[in-house]
Amino acid sequence: MPRRAEPTRWRRAAARVLAATGLVLCTTGAHAEAQPTVPTLQLAFVGDIMLDDGPGQTIAQGRDPLAGVAPALRRSDFAIGNLECPIATTGQPLPNKVYSFRAHPRVTEVLRGRFQALSVANNHAGDHGPEAFLETLAHVRRAGIQPFGGGANLREAHAPVWLEKHGIRVAVLAYNEFKPRQFEAGPEWPGIAWSEDEQVVRDIRAARAAGADWVIPFMHWGWENETEPSARQRQLARTLIDAGADLVVGGHPHLVQGAESYQGKPIVYSLGNFVFDGFDQPINRQGWLLRLTLSKDRLLAWDTLLTETDDAGSPHLRPGVRTPCGQPGPLGPASVVGHCSPP
Ligand SMILES: [Zn+2]
Repeated sequence: MPRRAEPTRWRRAAARVLAATGLVLCTTGAHAEAQPTVPTLQLAFVGDIMLDDGPGQTIAQGRDPLAGVAPALRRSDFAIGNLECPIATTGQPLPNKVYSFRAHPRVTEVLRGRFQALSVANNHAGDHGPEAFLETLAHVRRAGIQPFGGGANLREAHAPVWLEKHGIRVAVLAYNEFKPRQFEAGPEWPGIAWSEDEQVVRDIRAARAAGADWVIPFMHWGWENETEPSARQRQLARTLIDAGADLVVGGHPHLVQGAESYQGKPIVYSLGNFVFDGFDQPINRQGWLLRLTLSKDRLLAWDTLLTETDDAGSPHLRPGVRTPCGQPGPLGPASVVGHCSPP
């Protein structure tokens, strides 16, 4: 759907916020468009992207599992997801894992131009060992996408991905805390960033000190198939916000979990599955596409769009369902978590 044809609560919410903050609304032709006098940046986050098995077969047959969601991704300046599989031809499946994924390098063609950054901080990035992990990073970079939450060593794994537009600088960090821990990067060996509280807090402060206007941790956490966030997720989200994170986004449990506001900062606990097959229960087929509109110092609006995977694991937008969103409130323009009807 062309962006202009979207007369949405998204736009209405943004307009309401802009009006409340003294910004200007301009009318262009028949379409009343919010034209902020301050520069803005739009981010999109999605959950688990697994391109082996069903989605891999779809791509091998020359079809595009992301066709249904590509327009929604394109509307953001930067789209970020969690790559829940190695992309490689090297390596051997780990003998002690029930599911050891490995996608063919051809799959990067459906990611190219749609994602600007992909987290590898998850419990599948190391499914085929360190060689396949490093090959994955190379394929992702070759597709013009920045991998983060993992790297050739500990320092690289803990480095944020930097996204910048109109002088608005966003640092996104990624961590896994779902076993196995054997994929963790070390001082001189490749792997992912592990969610160790002290380390994450240090990274958040370092990103802020390095000039980030926005610091966003993207967590791979929680228990699979639990509809509510765990006490650990709630505690850690608060720790990260107390340390300076501007909002917290998560995934892994194979379903969407709730969202809430803490200190005026949104926490979206789990975005659920985005591209993934092999799930029979409807609840596991749902995911959220999180959209954020940021100025240099304000979260102007955020919302989530419901997606649902088909039998092949390809996502499709499901409009008309009320999902979490940020609405203007006493703690900030978009701090209050409500439920909105999507476009
Ligand atoms: Zn996972």
